Formats: sequence, structure tokens, C-alpha cells
Amino acid sequence: MHSYSVGIIGLGKIAHDQHLPAIAGDAGFTLAAITSQRGLTAGGVPTFRTPAEMYAAIPDLQTVAVCTPPQVRHATAREALAAGKHVMLEKPPAMTMAELADLTAFAKSQGRVLFATWHSRFNAAVEAARQRLAGKTVTRMTITWREDVRHWHPGQTWIWQAGGFGVFDPGINALSIATRIMPTPLFVTGADLEFPENCEAPIAARLTFASLAPGALTADFDWRQTGPQTWDIDIETAEGDRMRLESGGSKLFVDGALSVEAPSTEYEQIYERFHALLEAGESEVDDAPLRLVADAFLVGRRIATDPFIERLPQS
Ligand code: NAP
Repeated sequence: MHSYSVGIIGLGKIAHDQHLPAIAGDAGFTLAAITSQRGLTAGGVPTFRTPAEMYAAIPDLQTVAVCTPPQVRHATAREALAAGKHVMLEKPPAMTMAELADLTAFAKSQGRVLFATWHSRFNAAVEAARQRLAGKTVTRMTITWREDVRHWHPGQTWIWQAGGFGVFDPGINALSIATRIMPTPLFVTGADLEFPENCEAPIAARLTFASLAPGALTADFDWRQTGPQTWDIDIETAEGDRMRLESGGSKLFVDGALSVEAPSTEYEQIYERFHALLEAGESEVDDAPLRLVADAFLVGRRIATDPFIERLPQS
């Protein structure tokens, strides 16, 4: 198997938790370098403060994985493509739709592979749900994505800034599953967006959707849930299906009984897919989840709520 050299750009939580182990376990990739603006390193490879320094020092570097916050994704990915690198993008693939369209066109013009990853889609239960729903009429879809921001995003100030997506950072994972399994397109018809008084991004969002047939299609994203965390999608069809995707798409229940559960190998599969795309010389960019987020901001009602304070006073 051909092994592609890869440079990681942005050595934060997801790079540490998922990209480094996935690359280490994949014969199709060899970690060659890291760009870290803080100068961090891992895996015994050279580290650089900027991508430009990395490209100058290692001119034959073949691919990069962009693991930065979304606000700098477009500039970082464009610079990589201009330097002749194939590019894997963490989700969300860009801050705006126009940026993603530009990256898609630019990758094509440069003859480089662009892979916009949606990690939640790489679950066996999601594929099983997609197959069960093919050709059916969905009459109800209830997305409930409620988690504790203090637990999952400690110290991530970018997430609260404009373009940081707020609660849509996890919410877009739900939308990446919904857009994959729904047999017909989704359209955002309404959105209540709750912004903490001191933040530029929402802490909660309640969305309604339409599709081609009438149905009760909703999403409830909330970052204020302590205790048990919820990442579920309940679906009913006119044909009588009753199913639930649980735990972020890792379990599928049909009529209340567990039908599919497989250990999470999302990032192993992401690198396998990237390898296949590189071998085929093809890009893969699905903008549907980002489009729904953009539309939620277009039609959304803005509601002010309590300020967000990361460290609550000790009681
Ligand atoms: P993070 O821990 O804040 O890491 C992002 C890293 O990017 C920073 O540590 C920094 O690393 C680098 N960076 C480059 N430019 C930056 C800038 N202008 N501002 C801040 N950091 C900058 O965030 P993360 O959780 O890894 O998330 C990164 C992306 O992965 C997000 O788009 C997120 O949605 C996605 N993602 C995260 C998870 C998760 O579980 N956390 C899961 C799936 C996807 P250096 O100092 O090393 O350059």
C-alpha cells in the first residue's frame, strides 16, 4: 500500500484525541510534520510555527489535515492547496458557504484532492439507518443533541466568537447524520437561537424543517445539559418504521430493540476514505450540513439569554 506523508495543522483536542492515533495505526499514512502556533509537537516529527515554514522545510509533503478552528480553515486550506498539498478538512469544513465553494473550485483547478470530513457519518448504525429509510416517507424526525459545553469544550474561546458556530459545533454532527440518512432534502423553516449576552455564538438552538412530504421534523441543540448527555435522532415513517439513532449515531434501535452497535472507528475510517480518494484522485465535499447551519442563521430569531461563564463559582 502506498503511504502518503501527512502534516497536521493545529495540535488541539481533536488532533491529539483522534488524528494522531488514527495516523499511527494506518499503514496508508506517515506523520511527517506538525504545524503548531504554540510550538507543540508529537510523534517525534518536526514542528513548525506556520504552515509556510512546514512547506518550505518539507517540500515533498503530500497531504495535510487541517485541525484548526473553522475561522481560519479557508485561508489555511487555500494556502495548502496552493502549495500543492492534498487537504483533509475537519468539520465544519469552512466558516461560510462561499469559502467552501471557493475551496472546492480551487482544489479542482489545482488538481488536488479535497476531503471535507463528517466524522459522525462513519458509523455502521448511520449507514444502516440510511438503507432502512431509502425510498420511504419520513413523517417524524426529532433530533435531540444536548451536552455540557463546560465538559466537552473547556477553554475553547474561539467557539464563542463569531464564526465559531457555538452549539452548532456539535449540532452540525447531528445535521451531517440527518442529511445522510434522510431520503429527501431538508429545508430549515424556523430557528430560535439563544445567544448568551456576552457571546457571539448561540448556546442553544431549536430548529424546524420541511422536506418534500409533510412531517414533524425538528432539532433541539443545547449546551447547558449536565448529567446524562443526549445525542439521539428518533424517526418514524409513513411505512411504519420506528427507529432511534442513539449516542451520536453509534447505536440503531428499531422498534425499541437494538439493531446495530459497533465500536467507534470514525477516524480510522476517515483516513481509510482519504487514502481511497487520494488513490482515485477524487475530492469529496458535501456541503449539505453546513448549508443547513447557514440557513438556520438566515431564518433564525435571536433570543438573548444569561451570560456564559465558563467557571461557575464553587458552591
Ligand atoms: P482546539 O482544542 O481548540 O484545537 C484547535 C487548535 O488549532 C488550537 O489548539 C491551535 O493549535 C490551532 N489553531 C490554529 N489557529 C488557531 C486560531 N486562530 N485560534 C485557535 N486555535 C488555533 O479545538 P478542537 O476541539 O481540536 O477542534 C478543532 C476542530 O475540530 C473544530 O472545527 C471542531 O469542530 C473539530 N472537531 C472537534 C472534536 C472534539 O471532540 N474536540 C471532534 C470532532 C471535530 P496550535 O497552537 O497547536 O496551532
